[in-house]
Amino acid sequence: MGEFELIQRYFQPVARDTAHPDVKLGIGDDCAIQRIPPGHELVFSVDTLVEGVHFPSRYAPDRLARRALAVAASDLAAMGAKPVCFTLAMTLPKADAHWLERFSSELAQAGREFGLALAGGDTTRGPLTLTIQVHGTVPEGQALLRSGAQPGDLVVVSGTLGDAAAALDYLETGAPSQYQQTLLDRYNRPQPRLALGQLLRNRASAAIDISDGLLADLGHLLQASGCGAVIDAGRIPLSPALRDLAGEEAIGHALRGGDDYELCFTLPARFRDALHRQSPIPLQVIGDVVAEPGLTLLNADKHATPGRSGYEHFGADND
Ligand code: ADP
Ligand code: MG
Repeated sequence: MGEFELIQRYFQPVARDTAHPDVKLGIGDDCAIQRIPPGHELVFSVDTLVEGVHFPSRYAPDRLARRALAVAASDLAAMGAKPVCFTLAMTLPKADAHWLERFSSELAQAGREFGLALAGGDTTRGPLTLTIQVHGTVPEGQALLRSGAQPGDLVVVSGTLGDAAAALDYLETGAPSQYQQTLLDRYNRPQPRLALGQLLRNRASAAIDISDGLLADLGHLLQASGCGAVIDAGRIPLSPALRDLAGEEAIGHALRGGDDYELCFTLPARFRDALHRQSPIPLQVIGDVVAEPGLTLLNADKHATPGRSGYEHFGADND
């Protein structure tokens, strides 16, 4: 199967199934053309996933398609952007019809769910690698940056943390229990928080998606904002599945584990109540932004030992 046939057979249908009105010209020409609505800006990001590095070897093609697009879409969520389209550069060891069928049908499904149209790409032969560039739009000047946090803002996270990191232990499990399956779904089927991201425009002062772990990613946000935060470990949201399966290690997964793709953002306190009511996903306030740089973590038992080694301190470059 040649490159032309491969694109026609597997990727043209994805483009058709995911069509977006702002994609004026899609697959088939030298470039795609995207309309930018008046008063809006283009927001875009690119991610590369290498087999054995960013996803497990022999990872199921449908899982790969969904996870890769979700991870890319999560960057749009973190900017408060509305998804429009994506391009896909694929390096494949061989043209395996069965693999491509499963990959492309799940890609179409995920594209429809996230509102992302396939607008073009590139196909080459070599070790399995995917590069996805996502495009979204925001009203001019309203993108959520990492750099706007102010002392006094609340630090908020969506959903629960640590599930995807804990799932890595069960990727090879043949018949996972219900809780194991819950964690595996968090790894295999991340949910980019697109609706929440758009809701945060004009409210959150800074935002980031959690791909490398809460401490690392919040650290990036604080560094970009030139301030610090005090976080209460006891308020970090943990799922029942994680608590049950990881026990004492749950909090470590939640603080340092990546791959959850929840949003972490800072919020002026006056927006708190309305946002809690409107959010499509549970939100948890986990601490406060402070002027002094660095991240201070209060342990869950801080009340038992007030003022005495009840915290860990993380430097700005700590991960
Ligand atoms: P060119 O040589 O001009 O870059 P290509 O032969 O690489 O053109 O691609 C032909 C068309 O098919 C282009 O519109 C390109 O965007 C699209 N395309 C190539 N590979 C993919 C892919 N994996 N997914 C979606 N579109 C693709
Ligand atoms: Mg090309």
